[in-house]
Amino acid sequence: MMSNARRPIVGGNWKMNTDLASAVELADDVVASCGAFVDRCDIAVFPPFPYLQAVGRTLGHHGIILGAQSVYHQPDGAFTGEVSTDMLLDLNVGMVIIGHSERRHVIGETDELINRKLHAALDAGLQVLLCVGETIEQREAGQTSRVNISQLMAGLRGIQAGHMQRIVLAYEPVWAIGTGRTAGPADAQSVHTILRATLGDLYDGGLADSVRIQYGGSVRPGNAMELIAQPDIDGFLVGGSSLKAEEFTAIVRAAAESHV
Ligand code: PEP
Repeated sequence: MMSNARRPIVGGNWKMNTDLASAVELADDVVASCGAFVDRCDIAVFPPFPYLQAVGRTLGHHGIILGAQSVYHQPDGAFTGEVSTDMLLDLNVGMVIIGHSERRHVIGETDELINRKLHAALDAGLQVLLCVGETIEQREAGQTSRVNISQLMAGLRGIQAGHMQRIVLAYEPVWAIGTGRTAGPADAQSVHTILRATLGDLYDGGLADSVRIQYGGSVRPGNAMELIAQPDIDGFLVGGSSLKAEEFTAIVRAAAESHV
């Protein structure tokens, strides 16, 4: 069973999908169908930047967190195309994804940049969803533990224990994201155990036990329950299924009910 101290958390990463009208409609549907679970589960949605304001208005004060898919670490200046922490705070963004595999492997973000972004986001008072995960080549070469530990340690370099309660980790094997392939519950659990042990080494056992670790990678209503039943899986980061309010709600329900 999940430790009672860890409240489940589910995020919907909309990536570069929706338009203004469908983003607002989706947010409206999520409020209507997930609102009943906010007392038992943290729920966040991560729309594209241009729709943050409209989605934020639609989410209103129903307890669903408005999240951003990325942020830049510099406060202002000549950084064409980037968005600062203050800009996100202006729109009432509460949480930001950092280190998503698409930003690491498609856009080319390094561990060092990810660490800078993490510092900037935490200094600004945001919550951070820090993603780590191995590629299929790394898994097949037996490097799964090494890659995940190394991404975690590099991401957290210089982060004080006092800031850790505003960090949620997401283990997202790259080969499972958007592919329909999911890590089996035991495989996912084993990486979550390694991540938690690493937090114990970096900080202490009590802190490690309190940090939430989501699983992400083709989570669907049909596999959410077996995954959330694992003792170290505390929620999900959901891509494809977060674009359908019905599927997202079923996943939120699985997480919320795992805790009772
Ligand atoms: C993600 O975007 O973080 C993700 C896990 O996507 P999907 O659920 O589509 O695999």
